[in-house]
Amino acid sequence: MSFDIAPPRSQYGWPCRVTGTMVNYYHVCHRRLWLLTHNITQEQSSELVALGRLIHESSFVREHKEVMVFNRIRIDHTTTGQHLIVHEVKKSGAMSVAARVQLLFYLYELERLGIDCTGELHFRSERRKQPVVLDDEGRRTVEAAVREICRIVGQSTPPPRPAHAPCKKCAYRDYCEV
Ligand code: SF4
Repeated sequence: MSFDIAPPRSQYGWPCRVTGTMVNYYHVCHRRLWLLTHNITQEQSSELVALGRLIHESSFVREHKEVMVFNRIRIDHTTTGQHLIVHEVKKSGAMSVAARVQLLFYLYELERLGIDCTGELHFRSERRKQPVVLDDEGRRTVEAAVREICRIVGQSTPPPRPAHAPCKKCAYRDYCEV
């Protein structure tokens, strides 16, 4: 299933078109977020990114249904009766906080559409999954992240390299000279 929905008037005044990937990168490296959103696309050639894409595409083959929300958020989901479960698949749990907030962001956006749903994070290499439920704390986390993402994206120059950025596995290494 695939459908596009025009975003309702935002009560939070989303000033930019935020995606799940942007929410994820915000929690990994602000500089990576800025580079991604300024059309610096070295990530396309990354073997790690290709591996992630392969994992995504080979997951939930039998139950896979895809939903496009607001014409910018692509979500894998299954339904159990009337209940929607949104799945997010990651290679490992190394960036589990980023993955969790990314999934919370999807749940938040679906909630704005009046869709009742919960989430499930899947860490393929560890063969484990983790339930994710959007509560008030989760909503505040998403809103704060989106505000900060829009601030960072609006900067005219990229943020400096964070001290603990995961550069070894980043396709922007050449750009950042690490
Ligand atoms: S190479 Fe390091 S500093 Fe540069 S974008 Fe990637 S993670 Fe961030």
